[in-house]
Amino acid sequence: MAKSPLEGMADVTPSYDPMVKRVMVTGGAGFLGSHLCDRLIEAGNEVLCVDNYFTGRRSNVAHLLDHANFELMRHDVTFPLYVEVDEIYNLACPASPVHYQHDPVQTTKTSVHGAINMLGLAKRINAKIFQASTSEVYGDPSVDPQTEEYWGNVNPIGIRSCYDEGKRCAETLFFDYHRQHDLRIKVGRIFNTYGPGMHPKDGRVVSNFIVQALKGDPITIFGNGEQTRSFCYVDDLIAAVMAMMATEDDVTGPINLGNPGEFSMLELAETVLELTGSSSRLVFQPLPHDDPKQRCPDISKAKKYLGWAPKVPLREGLGKTITYFDALLSGRED
Ligand code: NAD
Ligand code: UDP
Repeated sequence: MAKSPLEGMADVTPSYDPMVKRVMVTGGAGFLGSHLCDRLIEAGNEVLCVDNYFTGRRSNVAHLLDHANFELMRHDVTFPLYVEVDEIYNLACPASPVHYQHDPVQTTKTSVHGAINMLGLAKRINAKIFQASTSEVYGDPSVDPQTEEYWGNVNPIGIRSCYDEGKRCAETLFFDYHRQHDLRIKVGRIFNTYGPGMHPKDGRVVSNFIVQALKGDPITIFGNGEQTRSFCYVDDLIAAVMAMMATEDDVTGPINLGNPGEFSMLELAETVLELTGSSSRLVFQPLPHDDPKQRCPDISKAKKYLGWAPKVPLREGLGKTITYFDALLSGRED
């Protein structure tokens, strides 16, 4: 019998397994991105986490570094990227006003050039692509609750515009790639999301209030505190994002992803004080320019197309987030 030409050679089985989905997460070392990487690995995917560490940290994904299906790459999405994957979650972009206003030109570049680069990549490799859009596309809304049909009320030249208009332009690019190149897109408009894993200096309201309460520092209320937000717990949000990626190709969005429970900043502060048992006092500081007065998602589309609704009420989610920050701060992270 003829000898196989491979006999005696090392194992040359290709490492590529067509049964395992290859998924890229840009902004994967950030707050939401690191939770998403966890869930994707748990679900048996191969995950490529891409981040420039502007607001994210290697430590957010350190526990995944030894996992055979996980790879971490330092890369700025404003530059082209050449990789082979089946699905892309585009989350790269600072999300806290303090951070996205730090270098507003880079923020716009990240949303716009980042979207162009990731869409170009998706087109070349025929990947499905999810965009982490935002409730900020509604600006300071005159419609309550906000439905996806509402076009928004956004200042194009204010201090929040680098983020709001960057994300709006990214949505435009996603829909043009879909219409022009038949690309499979999923645009999720994420409302304020919080939970364990946030950086203590993230600057957003939930982490600020909890850290201040735990340290006994004054709670900084901007304006009179009557402005409202709707807060979604991170586990609920990640479930929605993954459910959206799994929808049929004709489901493009935009779809609001958030928890419709609406609270004023004063109510949030009082709840945090109660749950932490803190005696921090409230201090009132000027309201930042263009700070939206109100935000509340209409989630009928998420219910209909994703079969999804948030499960974790604010008090329960705050409790888990307080436990996380308490442990972090007692390790003296400040
Ligand atoms: P985050 O700041 O914790 O994460 C953003 C990540 O993107 C960080 O790891 C950061 O280093 C990375 N990044 C920034 N610029 C980059 C670049 N040019 N190239 C590569 N990586 C870059 O914020 P998050 O809360 O995890 O938000 C993630 C995404 O979800 C963002 O796109 C944000 O706009 C969107 N979003 C979040 C919320 C929320 O409440 N958390 C609400 C609406 C939308
Ligand atoms: N805010 C506050 N104190 C803080 C941080 C934020 O009162 O220490 C307010 C802020 O003015 C806004 C709301 O909380 O009205 C939510 O702010 P955040 O930065 O979390 O996100 P935004 O929804 O404004 O992007």
